[in-house]
Amino acid sequence: MLGTVYKSTGSWYAVKAKDGTFYNCRIKGKFRIKGIKSTNPVAVGDEVEFDLDKESDETIGVIYAIRDRKNYIIRRSVNLAKRTHIIAANIDIAFLLVTIVNPETFTTFIDRFLVTAEAYHIKAVLLFNKLDQYTEGQLLEAKYLAAMYRDIGYECIGISAKTGKNIDKVIDQMKDKTSMFSGHSGVGKSTLINAIDPTLDLKTAQTSEQHQQGQHTTTFAQMFDLPFGGRIIDTPGIRGFGIVDIEKEEVTDYFPEFFELKQDCKFNNCLHVEEPGCAVKDALEKDKVAWSRYKSYLQLIEGDDEGYRIDPYKT
Ligand code: GDP
Ligand code: ZN
Repeated sequence: MLGTVYKSTGSWYAVKAKDGTFYNCRIKGKFRIKGIKSTNPVAVGDEVEFDLDKESDETIGVIYAIRDRKNYIIRRSVNLAKRTHIIAANIDIAFLLVTIVNPETFTTFIDRFLVTAEAYHIKAVLLFNKLDQYTEGQLLEAKYLAAMYRDIGYECIGISAKTGKNIDKVIDQMKDKTSMFSGHSGVGKSTLINAIDPTLDLKTAQTSEQHQQGQHTTTFAQMFDLPFGGRIIDTPGIRGFGIVDIEKEEVTDYFPEFFELKQDCKFNNCLHVEEPGCAVKDALEKDKVAWSRYKSYLQLIEGDDEGYRIDPYKT
């Protein structure tokens, strides 16, 4: 049978078959996925093939294969530092909630998130929340940022989770898709999720910073069906949107607006820093590339102690 993983506890997986029935599945024997050194071979969102365990209860199954993943997001394993943990797979849309104040969302954070989404091949949509509470100046700032990101090609929606403004537009995006929500604590994730579907009680939004720091709590993602079609992935206790390891030279690939420009750089290995004849810097001087984006780019190519590992939530 074919099904989708909705929940995992590490050794058991809740798999929803095409007819809507849930089965409790285990993984057969030493079954492991090639190519990924992860602590969990099967993740929420995976499409799996399974057989019913005839000797036991009719709702118990055994997973024997995983369909190729469209994408997946990972984090460091809590228990085994060198291993990774697959948070979720086959995600269609990653929403990032952005607020101008209370809390302030910095562009460097937005850009790290977008680079991570690009590297994972996941569509990112920016939701500018709390429009109802901004001053005129703050509204202008939100509009400026949205226009800047739209220019690059990212979809942006101005919303108010509180008043319900444009929630229908968010729902339109989510329909028949698998989505997840990210954003700093306090940006309005739980308020928005409640506005989308009041019956959902997701933990993503509720985890306190303290809980997220917990060293020994291993938490697992879970997926929920939406009443209008589509699914939402909840990642309790997982603060970020995964991590990616990329090479310094690769960073430009994940800045869509740099991508075309760099074909015109004098050197084909141009890092767009000090090199002469750099088309990216030229565009920057002419205000065709946003300074905030370039600043984020520079930060990313500088790397840190951990090399070029990008974790949007690492400050
Ligand atoms: P979370 O930590 O991302 O889940 O954020 P919450 O949903 O808990 O929201 C944090 C605070 O912001 C709460 O006091 C919400 O009532 C408030 N809030 C959320 N969305 C909006 C909004 O659109 N407008 C206003 N004015 N407040 C909001
Ligand atoms: Zn260049």
